Amino acid sequence: MIISMRPHAPKSEIDYVCERIREFGYKVHSIEGEERVVIGVVGVGDVTACLESLEATPGVERAVRISAPYKFVSKEFKKERSLMRINGLEIGGDEFIVMAGPCSVESERQIMETAEAVAAAGARILRGGAYKPRTSPYDFQGMELDGLKLLQKAKQATGLLIITEVMSDRDVDMVAQYADVMQVGARNMQNFALLKSLGRCGRPALLKRGLSATIKELLMSAEYLVAHGNSNVLLCERGIRTFETATRNTCDISAVPVLNELSHLPVILDPSHAVGKRSLVPAISRAAVAVGADGLIVEVHPCPEKAVSDGAQSLTIPQFRGLMQELKPYISLWKESRAREVAAAAV
Ligand code: PEP
Ligand code: MN
Repeated sequence: MIISMRPHAPKSEIDYVCERIREFGYKVHSIEGEERVVIGVVGVGDVTACLESLEATPGVERAVRISAPYKFVSKEFKKERSLMRINGLEIGGDEFIVMAGPCSVESERQIMETAEAVAAAGARILRGGAYKPRTSPYDFQGMELDGLKLLQKAKQATGLLIITEVMSDRDVDMVAQYADVMQVGARNMQNFALLKSLGRCGRPALLKRGLSATIKELLMSAEYLVAHGNSNVLLCERGIRTFETATRNTCDISAVPVLNELSHLPVILDPSHAVGKRSLVPAISRAAVAVGADGLIVEVHPCPEKAVSDGAQSLTIPQFRGLMQELKPYISLWKESRAREVAAAAV
């Protein structure tokens, strides 16, 4: 259930409503907006009796039953888009954010060269895996702490923020010392111990859709993060497994508008993992802008044929520059449509 209080309801009324909810055996999770307080009600109890009682309680504007099993990430809970705030940068607002960098951090030269180049081309966040989830145990597993230190160096040199994957709840505290955004990889979307730990850690988190996960499952995993204390969550469509073999995965482009309809959380697209082939990355990136994604995360490598992971889908630096140029007219249209949305919401 979600209880929306009247605008500027006094604290005494809010406290009384929370007390009543607890009497029904539920837990309370309230969010204070500028005008009103919205109370999320979680747990097991007599929904109908609780709703009827709350509807008649002073200060309550609306009490609604939520059909979706996810509450805090749903549009019913919060109609306005949520902004992800990362050290001064906002995702989900009026700027289309591009994150770019190699699949894996491989060497100082590789990460510094890529960071300088993607920053100059307009990327705002540097990606690079220091902990790599690989299908084969014999493949490169990542530089780990040394990789995190190189990312930090690249950040200092370029001013780019850092996004990097954390694979285990044991590594959360260490990765959080270096990452501005903690990436949960597709294979870990339902690693609930990791999600809980990231909920408590409080750093912004990027949650990638699992290879075979439904949109509902993705939102349930996002709910874990929020329910455990972290509302700074960014969703990412990165392709799903289907019968098609022409691309590495099948890019579920409709996931972006579907997520925008169901959730207030910002959504980005990863065209690189979605298609697995560098020649297709620009077309899917344009599509992401057109369907209203809040940004992109793109793999870029100074020498893709020598990359230790995902070389085939990594853009070269000149190709990334070309992509950023090519996206400009699409991003202008995107900005117009965001501005119209803001204007419509203000009426
Ligand atoms: C990655 O970003 O390099 C990665 C491993 O992504 P995913 O978890 O989407 O496969
Ligand atoms: Mn990769």
